[in-house]
Amino acid sequence: MSSALIYKPDSQDTVPNRFVVDAMLGKMAKWLRVLGADTLYTRLKSAEEIRRFMASGRIVITKNRKWEKIEGIVCLEANRLDEQFAELAQKIRTKFPEEFWFSRCVTCNEILVGVDKHSIKGKVPEYVWNSMDEFSMCPSCLKIFWEGSHVGRMVEKACRLSKMFKNKEEVET
Ligand SMILES: [Zn+2]
Repeated sequence: MSSALIYKPDSQDTVPNRFVVDAMLGKMAKWLRVLGADTLYTRLKSAEEIRRFMASGRIVITKNRKWEKIEGIVCLEANRLDEQFAELAQKIRTKFPEEFWFSRCVTCNEILVGVDKHSIKGKVPEYVWNSMDEFSMCPSCLKIFWEGSHVGRMVEKACRLSKMFKNKEEVET
């Protein structure tokens, strides 16, 4: 496992981007993973569990009003993904550096590992195998990834979502 992929925040006032996302926010969990953030997706069960997650250095995000009194939890109101990201950006300061985008399995949260092209012959469509040289795999679900045609649209969306977290100064320059 590559330790170089672990994001280290570069300033004191930037929170580490490790998250726990509550049920009902599945799309948000998926996109946090697309942006490279270590994101657990679970149904929060108790205040004690939430505090344990926070003590382990994770930002806990929920839509459930039941938990809003817990200090430090991020309680969102918006229903649409873009609005939820905008709301999150108002509440926390973090960054999603581009070099970590698409580095995780969006289903398992595992960091993808590079695989030798010849070891996966027959496991991806032939035209893909013939035209691509770099492949990666999720060590958990063993799904194989490559830079396919869907990535263009996903990159656009990743840009839009991550931009919301830029500091004012960075946007202006
Ligand atoms: Zn996976």
